[in-house]
Amino acid sequence: MTINSQEIIDQTQEYGAKNYHPLPIVISKAEGVWVEDPEGNRYMDMLSAYSAVNQGHRHPKIIQALQDQASRVTLTSRAFHNDQLGPWYEKVCKLTNKEMALPMNTGVEAVETAIKATRRWAYDVKGVPDGQAEIIACVGNFHGRTLTAVSLSSEEEYKRGFGPLLPGIKVIPYGDIEALKEAINENTAGFLFEPIQGEAGIVMPPEGFLKEAYELCQKENVLYIADEIQAGLGRSGKMFACDWEDVSPDVLILGKALGGGVFPISCVVANKDVLGVFNPGSHGSTFGGNPLACAVSVAALDVIEEEKLAERSLELGTYMKEELQSIDNPKIKEIRGRGLFIGVEMTVPARSYCEQLKEKGLLCKETHENVIRFAPPLTIDKSDLDWAIEQIKDVLK
Ligand code: PLP
Repeated sequence: MTINSQEIIDQTQEYGAKNYHPLPIVISKAEGVWVEDPEGNRYMDMLSAYSAVNQGHRHPKIIQALQDQASRVTLTSRAFHNDQLGPWYEKVCKLTNKEMALPMNTGVEAVETAIKATRRWAYDVKGVPDGQAEIIACVGNFHGRTLTAVSLSSEEEYKRGFGPLLPGIKVIPYGDIEALKEAINENTAGFLFEPIQGEAGIVMPPEGFLKEAYELCQKENVLYIADEIQAGLGRSGKMFACDWEDVSPDVLILGKALGGGVFPISCVVANKDVLGVFNPGSHGSTFGGNPLACAVSVAALDVIEEEKLAERSLELGTYMKEELQSIDNPKIKEIRGRGLFIGVEMTVPARSYCEQLKEKGLLCKETHENVIRFAPPLTIDKSDLDWAIEQIKDVLK
C-alpha cells in the first residue's frame, strides 16, 4: 500500500521537529527539472534544493558513478587511503586553480573548516597573539546552522536561545568597503562573505566590491574567504560568482552542487600556505572524503563542465530576467540576480505567490519574507523555461 501526500504530511507534523515550514507538497520521484508527488502530479522544481541540484535531478552520469562506486567500496574512513580521493583532489584543485583541498560533507562543516584554517593561519603564519584572531562577516549572511555559523549571523532568530556564541567575530554591512576598512585591525584573520547572498534574498554587492575587498585584504594580510556553497558551480552564470570580478579567493568554500544533489560533499580549497596549517589530529571527519562522495563529485563536476552549465545559466538567466522585468505590477519592488539565480522582491509577503505558483505546477520558495527565489536546475531547456515564465507571468501580473 502506498501512502498518500496527506498521510505523509500528517506523519511529519506528528513526529518531526518543527524547524522547517515546507509548502504542502510531497515529492516521491524526480527527473531533470521535474518532480512528482505520490498521486502522480508533476511540478517543475524552481528551487533545485537551494542550488544543490544544478545538474538536474538524478543526472544519468552522476547516478551511474554512484551505482558503479556503490558496487565497489563506499566508506573507508581516512585511517586508510581510498582510490577515489586522489582523483577528486586533483579535479577540484585544477578546477579552482588552488594547491590543496579538504573534503567534508555538508556546507556548514566546510565553513567551520575554513574558519579553523583561518584562525590557525592567523596564529601560525600571520603572528596574531594567541586567542585574539578575528573574523569579519557580513550583515545578512548565511553560512549554515552550527554554533559557529550562527555566531556569524546577523539574524536574531538564528541565534536566540543558543548562546554563548563564538567570540572573535565582527559583522559589517554587506558590500560596504569603508566598513571593511574600518573593521580590519592587526588581529584580523579573514573576511568571510558570499559573493551573492542567497538566503538573504539573492542580494548582490555593489559592482566593484568583490575586487576592492580582495585588494584590501591582500594589502592588509587578511584572508579573503568566499562562501560559494550556493552561488558557485555555475549557478550565477560563471563557474564561481567571484569570477564576475576576476578574483581568486584565498579560501574557497564549496558544497551543494559539488555532489550533484546525489550525495553530500563539501570542501575548502586554498593554497598550501593556508590549508597547510592542518596536521594529523587537528581536523577530520569520518565520512569526509569517502569514496562514494568522491566518485559522485567527480561526475558532478564533469557534468557542469561538459554541459557548459555556467554558460547555460548565463544565457537562460539573462533571458528569464528580461522576461520577468516586463511584468507590470506595482507590488514588484525589484528583480535581481545573475544567471539562473533570480530574486523577485515584492512589497508584500511572497508566500502566497509561491502557493499560487505551486497550484500552477511550479515549485519555488520565498526567502526572507518578501523575495521569491527562482533557481531551476541549470540543465533546464528553453521550452520548459518558457512554460515556467508563462506561469510566473500569470501569477505575478
Ligand atoms: N553557506 C551558504 C552560502 C549556503 O547557502 C548554505 C546553505 O544554504 C550553507 C553555507 C550551509 O550549507 P549546509 O546546509 O549544507 O550545511
